[in-house]
Amino acid sequence: MSSNLRIKKVCQFCCDEFIAKTTKTKYCSLRCAQKHYKVRQKEKKIEEAKKQFEEQKSTNRKRSKKKPLQLGKEEVITVQQASTILQVSRKTIYNMIETNRLEAININQRLTRIKKSSLDDLMDFDLKRAEKNNIFDIDDAYTISNVLEKYDLAQSFLYKKLLEYGVPKIKSGKNVLVPKKMIDLMFKNYTK
Ligand SMILES: [Zn+2]
Repeated sequence: MSSNLRIKKVCQFCCDEFIAKTTKTKYCSLRCAQKHYKVRQKEKKIEEAKKQFEEQKSTNRKRSKKKPLQLGKEEVITVQQASTILQVSRKTIYNMIETNRLEAININQRLTRIKKSSLDDLMDFDLKRAEKNNIFDIDDAYTISNVLEKYDLAQSFLYKKLLEYGVPKIKSGKNVLVPKKMIDLMFKNYTK
């Protein structure tokens, strides 16, 4: 491609005018070509780093959507999730919060989150099954007077709560038995 062509051009690196021998020449000198190459490589690296950073940020965001919500060190779940896990109604979950059987955090008036750790305490006791089958181990039961004494409750209050939570009852002679584990969970944090 050697020719006697003389083209006035502006160097893409130093911006000086120069006479190019081919239409493709972009630089006044090899030095400018090399320097510009280095600059472009650097810019490319910065671009790539930026892109990687943005990608990382968006995958982190996606991942944090999947992960359970963390409040501080405490893992929390929604009322709906708790009701699904325990197989009870949302109303029961709210009751459990009110009676301190579940530890909750009120983010605001309409947004309640439940500490997952407090749910784990309940998990080993299948409330729903006890409700449904109305059976429990009578060797692992309280009498009504046991409960009243242990938790220092008024009888009317206890009966209201038994009804509210659908606590299974078994009549045994003169006594009415209620499942120990369930009662303990209900009144665990109860203070008059
Ligand atoms: Zn130049």
